[in-house]
Amino acid sequence: MAQFYVNQNQQTGGEHEVHVEGCNFMPFEKNLLDLGGHTDCSSALEVARNTYDVVNGCEHCCPSCHTT
Ligand SMILES: [Zn+2]
Repeated sequence: MAQFYVNQNQQTGGEHEVHVEGCNFMPFEKNLLDLGGHTDCSSALEVARNTYDVVNGCEHCCPSCHTT
C-alpha cells in the first residue's frame, strides 16, 4: 500500500497528475490533494477522478497509469 497524491495544479495539457509519496517529481506540498492509500495507481486515479475530470499518472512514479 502506498500513499497517493494528485497535483491540484493542472499540467499544460489540462490534466492533473497523480503521484506516489516520495516521487522526485511531486509538486510542492501545498499543491497536493491526499488520495489516501492504494495498492495500485489505477484505484488512486479513480479517487482523483471524483475531484478532477482529467487525471493522468505521473510517468516517473506511475508509469502503468501514464498515458501520453
Ligand atoms: Zn510522480
